[in-house]
Amino acid sequence: MAKYVYSFGKDSTDGDATMKNLLGGKGANLAEMAKIGLPVPSGFTITTEVCTYFYANGHQYPPELEAQVNDAMVAIEKTMGKKFGDHKDMPLLVSCRSGARESMPGMMDTVLNIGLNDRTVEVLAKESQDERFAWDCYRRFVQMYGDVVLDMKPKTKTDIDPFEELLEAKKHKAGVKEDSELKPAHLKELVKEFKAAVKKQTGKDFPDDPMEQVWGAVGAVFGSWMNDRAIVYRRMYGIPHEWGTAVNVQAMVFGNMGDTCATGVALTRNGATGEKGITGDYLVNAQGEDVVAGIRMPKRIEESLNKDMPTSWEEFSKVAMILENHYKDVQDIEFTIEKQKLWMLQTRNAKRTGFAAVRAAVDMVNEGLITPEQAIARIPANDVTQLLQPVFGGAGLKGKKEIAKGINAGPGAATGQIYFQPDEAEAVWQKKNDAEIILVRLETTPEDLRGMKVAKGILTSRGGAASHAALVSRQMGKACVCGCEAINIDYKTETMTIGDKTFKKGDWISVDGFTGKVYEGKVPTSPSEVLQVLFEKSLKPKDAPLYQCFQQLMSWSDRFRKLDVRANADNPKESNEAIALGAQGIGLTRTEHMFFDHIDDFRKMILSETIADREKALAPLLKHQQTDFEGIFRAMSGRPVTIRLLDPPLHEFVPHEEKDQAELAKKMGIKPADVSRRVKELHEFNPMLGHRGCRLGIVYPEITRMQATAICQAAVAVMKEGIDCHPEIMIPLIGNITEFRNQEKIIREAATAVFKKAGVTPDYLVGTMIELPRACVTADKIAEGAEFFSFGTNDLTQTGLGISRDDYGTFINEYREMDIFSDDPFQTLDQDGVGGLMKIAVEKGRSARSDIKLGICGEHGGDPASVKFCHKIGLSYVSCSPLRLPVARLAAAQAAITEKKEKAAKKTSGGCECCKDGCKCCCCCKCGCRG
Ligand code: PEP
Ligand code: MG
Repeated sequence: MAKYVYSFGKDSTDGDATMKNLLGGKGANLAEMAKIGLPVPSGFTITTEVCTYFYANGHQYPPELEAQVNDAMVAIEKTMGKKFGDHKDMPLLVSCRSGARESMPGMMDTVLNIGLNDRTVEVLAKESQDERFAWDCYRRFVQMYGDVVLDMKPKTKTDIDPFEELLEAKKHKAGVKEDSELKPAHLKELVKEFKAAVKKQTGKDFPDDPMEQVWGAVGAVFGSWMNDRAIVYRRMYGIPHEWGTAVNVQAMVFGNMGDTCATGVALTRNGATGEKGITGDYLVNAQGEDVVAGIRMPKRIEESLNKDMPTSWEEFSKVAMILENHYKDVQDIEFTIEKQKLWMLQTRNAKRTGFAAVRAAVDMVNEGLITPEQAIARIPANDVTQLLQPVFGGAGLKGKKEIAKGINAGPGAATGQIYFQPDEAEAVWQKKNDAEIILVRLETTPEDLRGMKVAKGILTSRGGAASHAALVSRQMGKACVCGCEAINIDYKTETMTIGDKTFKKGDWISVDGFTGKVYEGKVPTSPSEVLQVLFEKSLKPKDAPLYQCFQQLMSWSDRFRKLDVRANADNPKESNEAIALGAQGIGLTRTEHMFFDHIDDFRKMILSETIADREKALAPLLKHQQTDFEGIFRAMSGRPVTIRLLDPPLHEFVPHEEKDQAELAKKMGIKPADVSRRVKELHEFNPMLGHRGCRLGIVYPEITRMQATAICQAAVAVMKEGIDCHPEIMIPLIGNITEFRNQEKIIREAATAVFKKAGVTPDYLVGTMIELPRACVTADKIAEGAEFFSFGTNDLTQTGLGISRDDYGTFINEYREMDIFSDDPFQTLDQDGVGGLMKIAVEKGRSARSDIKLGICGEHGGDPASVKFCHKIGLSYVSCSPLRLPVARLAAAQAAITEKKEKAAKKTSGGCECCKDGCKCCCCCKCGCRG
């Protein structure tokens, strides 16, 4: 019989930490904690397979489930020594929580205090000797159940929450401000009123039967897998919708039974900076949700738990270290102290910023906890870019007014205009994608996710280092200052007041997530610590601890990776920066970028009507280009440099305004009408598929000759200075070997002439970009001539998908929202489609020329998933913009480590990594990869 329910607890535990796919992260780790003897309230996990079944079968459960749940409830009763629904002795109450394979903090639903009804509440009051506690639990339960299970949560910001309305009315009538000031009699009345509201809105009585309550909660939690915020979150972090969530039903323990009770969340190292030591928030006499929601200002564990509850603090710090050593990673822990007894409710690998990820991983290697390979594997490659982002500091802060200070929750520096409503922030961003927004909230909730996503920074007046705002912004790598108590926010007037100064929506402020400081107006940024060492040389490595961690990680990455990394760079400055960030060569110099510095000369060449005029106009350009190439060759000192010949349509370079055309005509000594006529002649309806790439050099061979001559003369000049030089001349947009041969002939003739005259022959290659499907399919033919291929995946995506890279912005958001595309194909390679074309080109290219050099220079060369794909299909290098190089180095190392692991696993099991199945036949290999 299929097993759908896995128990955990002191007496017996079925699962463990390896079973995340089936039990979800929370369930697997609860089982693991119970197994290693930590104090976990008993419970059980309903597997993710049930979730899949639930959605595939019209929200029905497998027939075996009910009996398995009933048995598991009995097991909880036994271990906890309490009965569910007991009318005589202390009743067992349970919670029901979600738990997906990857944690999705706050995105799905939770129901607490299940099992309360008019009879059990009386026993709870009697046994706990705390009537107020019992009725407060009941009041919260009816409210939570009504919101989550009975779907009474307000749907829009203007809808009224019936429970909140009743609660406010009750407080008003009782003449109190806080919920905690309500007396048991008030709470009893509220429960009645809440139930009446349920009846009124749903037409049904509130369920009294504890098991009926459990099933209601289980269904709601499975249902919340498909709520809007969970879907948005999954899309944002690439979590497949098919995974489903598990559901955890667990005995309740209470942090709200008086002043010997508490509840909290903690990290074993600082989630923002990675520094060692427990950090976190707790509240005395409170239930868990209160801490994360930021409703009450929590206390900081590292500051006062040892004074408030010395014994519990000692026990908790021991358990926290046991967990970090056991998982060998920073842990994010939820706990409750019930009458001085510590209970562990959750542990998971902590979400962290890029700074914290790098620092903690490097420290853990140095502490002997993990290996460099493990350190590399666990850092999301994109996160290292955070270490290169600008910061506030130095001269930029001069004269800037600090207006408030909060908790430094998510590092980074952000300047932007204040918005208070997340949906408004999103609407502003949709109109203007580079809008600079600081989202200012009392506290954030999962509903605010879309607004948080588009904001440059987040500022809250409530909540601590483990509040929702802190957690989510860290994961998104956004600057966040939270718990900034000096700020008074008024959503109605859309203002925030600090002292006697009021800021309106749209006013500019700046937040520093490193220091927790908030500034009035815009603050200019300065380079990050890493770039101060590498680019500016204004900081010495020994004085830059963050740089040291970065460098350590990069050197480990270089040790493991097999792919070379190159940069896309167009001048000596970029080339030097690329080398500082680890480039082993240049994968793409776009020569047209250089023409912008000599635009008038270039325009003269474009507007020439005869070959003789064009040749004349090309002469000064040759000089400019040669000087530019010499600078790059010198900077790269012997590293390979791929230079692409002119690619964009000429129309892009000519002036389109009448006034500018007249000015150019004057400079050239021709009539404005002639300029305007030539500009019109160059106009194309679809220039991306028009006269561009090699088609320019074929029609105007003198341009190719000039560029090839400039490259070769530059190489010769630099070699005569004693600097080695390896130019790789790249022809763009080849679709046919005949095009290649045409251009190759001109290049080789020019090269031979230059080298013969100079008496020096550098090692040089002639190759092509692969940007057209036809080039992929005929790559064997093209490789007969081309000595290297560089995949121009920007154009290959455009031509392969038939989607204009310049116009797809009008529909890509809808495509992503509707899951038609899981990623933006111009950022992350479409591996099945464009990747399939690349595979064909690699195979065919190698079949004709076994030592062909293969690289990529489209934007995808700096995208982690795409880099890993390039490793898999056996490219020699990836090339990306200089600031993406650390990402590429790390991703390339991760690809090599994964491959090594997969090979080792195959060797030992004789089967694939996914299912470890020895037999690869179609019936035995469980995952279907047969591999
Ligand atoms: C490409 O098409 O991938 C490429 C690198 O060239 P460009 O972006 O200049 O068209
Ligand atoms: Mg291109």
